[in-house]
Order: sequence, then C-alpha cells, then structure tokens
Amino acid sequence: MKPSATLPTARDKLLFTPGPLTTSLSVKQAMLHDAGSWHFEFNAKVNWVREKILEIAGLSRDAGWEAILLQGSGTFGVEAVFATCVPPSGKVAVLANGAYGERIVLMLQHLKIDHLVLRTPENTPNDPAALDRALATDKTITHVAIVHCETTTGILNPITEVGRVVQRHSRHYIVDAMSSFAAIPIDFSPAGIDFLISSANKCLEGVPGFSFVICRRDALLACEGYARCLSLDLLDQLKGFDKNGQFRYTPPTHPILAFEQAMKELEHEGGVAGRGARYRRNHETLVKGMKQLGFRPYLDPAVQSYIITSFYYPDTEKFSFDDFYRRLSDKGFIIYPGKISRANTFRIGSIGRISPSDIDALVSAIDSVLKERGVKMV
Ligand SMILES: *Cc1c(COP(=O)(O)O)cnc(C)c1O
Repeated sequence: MKPSATLPTARDKLLFTPGPLTTSLSVKQAMLHDAGSWHFEFNAKVNWVREKILEIAGLSRDAGWEAILLQGSGTFGVEAVFATCVPPSGKVAVLANGAYGERIVLMLQHLKIDHLVLRTPENTPNDPAALDRALATDKTITHVAIVHCETTTGILNPITEVGRVVQRHSRHYIVDAMSSFAAIPIDFSPAGIDFLISSANKCLEGVPGFSFVICRRDALLACEGYARCLSLDLLDQLKGFDKNGQFRYTPPTHPILAFEQAMKELEHEGGVAGRGARYRRNHETLVKGMKQLGFRPYLDPAVQSYIITSFYYPDTEKFSFDDFYRRLSDKGFIIYPGKISRANTFRIGSIGRISPSDIDALVSAIDSVLKERGVKMV
C-alpha cells in the first residue's frame, strides 16, 4: 500500500450531499475527546443541547416542549415517533411524493399500523385538498404524516397549509423535517405540529449519530403503553432523560461533542436566518452556473427548496453518471446520485459547511469533466 493513500489530507473532498455533509474543522476537532456517559459534565452538555434545539425551533421547556435525542440516524427518530405515538387502534394518513414519504409507509407496514397513502407525483407538492377530503370521509384517521423538504428531489411541501387542514379536523400532525430544520424557518404554532423529527447531521452541520424529536411533553406522556418496541420507545427515552439526564443505553458521545460545537457555529452564523441565507446563495449560485453549462433542473423553481437540487442527465449517450461521479471525485467533489423513479437525474446539495465559492469550484470542475469526455450540452 502506498503510505500516502492512508494519510489524512489537509482538506477532505467536499460533500455536496444531503447528509452526512461537509462539517467544519472545529466540529471535527471537538470529537478528539473521550466522554463518560455517566459523567455529570457530559450530561450537562446533553441537557444544553436539548434546550438549544428548542430555542432554534422558537420553543421552550417552560412552554411545555421537549427535544428528545435518540441514538441512530434520522430514520430511527421517524420510526420511533410512529412506534411510540400512534395508539393500537390508530390510523396514519401519509402524504408522499418521494422516497422519504415511501419510507414512512414501509415503517407503518413493519409496525402493522393501519394507514392511507395520499400520493402526488415527485415534482408536485402534497395536496391539502385531497387530505381535507380524506379526513372528512375517514374518521378513523388519527395522525397525518408529511415530509417537509422531500430530499428525493428537493421539493418543498406546504407544511403549514396541510397543518391547518389537520387542525381543522382535530388530528395529530407528524412532520419529517430532517433536511430542512435549522435552515428553513418552521413555525410550530400556525402549522399545529405535534411531532417534528430531524437529525444531527443535516442542516445543523453536526456528524451522524443521533436524531431528535421535538414535541409537547403532554402529548408524549399521553402515549403511555403504545410503544411497539423497546429501543425506539420515545416516551421511555424521555423518562430516562428526566430521571438522570442520560441516554438509555450507550450514548453517541462523540457526535454530541461535535453537535455542541456545531450549535455554537449556527448561532455565530446568525441562527436559522443566517444559515438559510447562505444555503440560498449556494443554491442560486449552483442553478445559475449549471444552467450556463446547459443543465436543466428537474423541479419548477416555485416548488424547489434551497436544500438540494436535482438535474437531468445531459441528453447524450456520451454521458455516464458513474464516470462523471468518479472524475468529479478525483477533482475533490462528491455529488449524489438521483433517486427519482421516472427521470434520469443526479443531485447536488447546497447544505453543509460549503459556500458559494465552493459551488463555483464545483461548477468549474463539472465543466472540465464534460470537456474531458467530449460531452456537448444541447
Ligand atoms: C436524511 C433524511 C431522512 C433520514 O435519513 P437517515 O439516512 O436515516 O439519516 C429522513 N427524511 C428525510 C427527508 C431526509 O432527508
């Protein structure tokens, strides 16, 4: 083995992916410590992080809210909400227009929870009117689930408009805000959100290791006895934090240390508004540059978020995604394959510790790769 192949480089390749994503050096450095799970200093950090998450959401413990951390990736947090908070006789209406909505459907199948799926095409936001009709006719529906930014395409779903329908019918509302929380403002009260899920390694720019659920304490306490499994029992997890400030089972110590630093950096950037503004500039720089090269975005700008953007493959046989991906990687840029069922696309994320100048560098690299391969855009 060449020794150089194993040495860390001064700068890692930049990730233009929707999480894990590029993190700051200081966030990575925060992990160069060991932390004892039982130790009061570590548990004080866990408590601080939980309060800070509520602050970012514009909520507080005093007003009756909790942020519950759970080991595992974002999916674990989403599944924990369904596993814990839907009663045995409950039924969930899922609004789906991409892979993450479909993943919720899979979870409900595994958990054997009755459900109804309201689908729209992948380039079309969820339909509040269709939900209104479903809730009016099916009184057995107890919960509605939605994905805020459907990372499959980058489409933004109308969580507040849908939330108003949910409230009018007095049902519970579950929002997967994995790829939007901390970058797109979310107003809990007009949307009537009961449970919101996100994770450490998306717009908060921490490292993977845990997800978190924001909910009203009372709403979760009312779910006593529903949990369908032990490790994902969110109520039991809350009781663990209540009892001794600790995670049940081994905590994600290093991700928590990284997250503490990441939250300080979010504050330094101007909170959700500051972070959202940088991501928006990243997205605008990206779309402008890619259009100049001749690429077409998949979504209508009216429904496109500034989180991640899908582009159609160039319309020529000379283009191979695998070759494109490898050549960009050789130049230090990691992009993301597409996940859309009916169109050939790839995705480029605008989130993580990247700036418009990094986007410019990526677009130049894409231009070079196309020239190397003799791909002419039409
Ligand atoms: C990333 C993501 C998830 C969770 O994915 P994990 O790989 O489990 O972290 C869920 N929903 C959305 C919308 C996401 O973007």
